[in-house]
Amino acid sequence: MQKTALITGSTSGIGLGIARCFAKAGYQIAFNGLEANGAEVAESVGKEFGVKTTFSAANLMNPEAIQTMVAEAEATFGRIDVLVNNAGVQFVSPVEDFPVAKWDLIIGVNMSAVFHTAKAVWKGMKARGFGRIINITSAHGLRASEFKSAYVTSKHGVTGLTKVLALEGAPFGITCNAICPGYVRTPLVEGQIKDQAKAHNMTEDEVIEKVMLKKQAIKDFVKIEALGELALLLASETSSELTGVSIPVDGGWTSQ
Ligand code: NAD
Repeated sequence: MQKTALITGSTSGIGLGIARCFAKAGYQIAFNGLEANGAEVAESVGKEFGVKTTFSAANLMNPEAIQTMVAEAEATFGRIDVLVNNAGVQFVSPVEDFPVAKWDLIIGVNMSAVFHTAKAVWKGMKARGFGRIINITSAHGLRASEFKSAYVTSKHGVTGLTKVLALEGAPFGITCNAICPGYVRTPLVEGQIKDQAKAHNMTEDEVIEKVMLKKQAIKDFVKIEALGELALLLASETSSELTGVSIPVDGGWTSQ
């Protein structure tokens, strides 16, 4: 039977790359994101790979909107087999100047929304005896960097939640794992390069070399396709005992 994946933040960057990998593998995709062209992105990926797609502009800061998004996807596709919690936001600032509104946003989108989406898909996955929840955290789910108090906190929170969902899902055929990328050149990172340049008083090239890739043993941005292929493996029927882990794809950063 054709499987369905709901992927948050899938109209840009890593989420879009993962959606394309899943569509190529024959999955139906429920897209989500705040990009104005989200519906066209979903439609064009559907056409390109010959799979059914939908789009929801649900703002993940709103738990009711999340419930509606999940209910609509279940009504359209009959099931959600795979949930990829990918949407994320970033803000870089020393803690003493960190805006409270940015803290609330980052904790809300990166961490609390993962709880809300998992809660919303749980009943259906449990009833069918199959579910795969994949959280895109970060090397910052395992390590800290200065100026990223909210982001590091949110990603460490999801590292913990991943383990809890793995334990609670075990009797019901639901697995939960996290993928922890190093730096991937997406719109989110383009923004960070600019912010870090200001924070460190450096040029953008210096930030890439001396700040970002400094921590990776392999001095290259991570490929989105590598994250998509890994997500597909975690989503497979065969990976039924692979649960509760956070897998770094970070050029050796967290090996140190
Ligand atoms: P991106 O900015 O390209 O995409 C983020 C997506 O999240 C967009 O589709 C955006 O619309 C969506 N989003 C943001 N706020 C939302 C909200 N309130 N409601 C609904 N959707 C919302 O970023 P990206 O680099 O592709 O990041 C994707 C994920 O990967 C994030 O969780 C990020 O923390 C993580 N990550 C990225 C990198 C990297 O280097 N790019 C590294 C490690 C982890």
